Amino acid sequence: EGKTILVTGGAGYIGSHTVRLLAEKKYKVIVVDNLVYGHEEAILDKNVKLVKANIADGKAMTTLFSENKIDAVLHFAAYAYVGESVKDPAKYYLNNVAAPLSLIEIMRAYNCNNFIFSSTCASYGNPVRLPIDENHPQDPINPYGQSKLMLEKILKDYGPAYNLNYFFLRYFNASGASKDGLIGEDHDPETHLIPLVIEAAKGTRGPVTVFGTDYDTPDGTCIRDYIHVEDLGRAHILALEHLLNGKGSAICNLGTGKGCSVKEVIETVEKVTGLKVPVKFGPRREGDPALLVSDPSAAKNILGWVAEYQDLSAIIETAWKWHNGKKSGKYTPKSKSINAI
Ligand code: UDP
Repeated sequence: EGKTILVTGGAGYIGSHTVRLLAEKKYKVIVVDNLVYGHEEAILDKNVKLVKANIADGKAMTTLFSENKIDAVLHFAAYAYVGESVKDPAKYYLNNVAAPLSLIEIMRAYNCNNFIFSSTCASYGNPVRLPIDENHPQDPINPYGQSKLMLEKILKDYGPAYNLNYFFLRYFNASGASKDGLIGEDHDPETHLIPLVIEAAKGTRGPVTVFGTDYDTPDGTCIRDYIHVEDLGRAHILALEHLLNGKGSAICNLGTGKGCSVKEVIETVEKVTGLKVPVKFGPRREGDPALLVSDPSAAKNILGWVAEYQDLSAIIETAWKWHNGKKSGKYTPKSKSINAI
């Protein structure tokens, strides 16, 4: 479309899938990623420019904004390990709040006024009602969720004061991989359920531990709303278009509206792979609510977005394809251009 979009954290899991969709739509894409957790191989399109830098690097970001007329920022770059955020909250407040604030100062200086923010269902804390809509009280139970909520609150003040349009996308459980299996979930360390269950099934990692079997749910295990990563990517494009078309700030949950239990995830991986998953049963993990399920109707009303992947087995099929391709060496860059500042 000729517009230039800056994607922070574009080499990460959700960022890299969104970058592919943006490039397909002919946006000019610049990724800024410090590659602490991101993978430069995950940026497949040769027209996408990767700037290896920290978003808190004022000099690098000023150069970037002075050399490019940036129409919007998609902000994915963040730390996202809940347990780590409890042990080292400073890391989370510095990286997830202070760093984007310094980036936003540079946006303001260059009159870039569209900001799409990766927020989270963790900003709601323990649900007081289900499904969770956008007006559900926000009371996070860990520093990770707090850091996301803090940036939301700051942006709500900045919006009217500085003519900054924001779009908060509150993801539920991002999952799956690209349909063609070329990119997918690749965290180190990996803590997320679906990749851990797949690796347990393949035998590349030990048994998966089910965190808690005494929850107040039908099978006693936690229920989550698993949303496919390409559905998330598509929602970002729509949110971007919403802001570029002058429709103003908005907030949407991104989920399917349906919940699946930990046991159902394990059973579905067994069905999709034909392998037996070795399982251990352990105690609850601290900070895990029994049920997190979205009300996705705002995204439908505001963006016309509905998750295409409504079925957990279809999501897991993509994750399975990706894991096998990665193993056989398909996960190699097609082409890329690196322009580190
Ligand atoms: N979970 C589990 N064992 C694991 C990892 C996760 O039982 O090794 C559970 C976890 O308690 C939660 C669900 O799986 O109920 C999804 O966890 P994940 O870490 O994937 O995402 P989160 O809900 O924390 O964002």
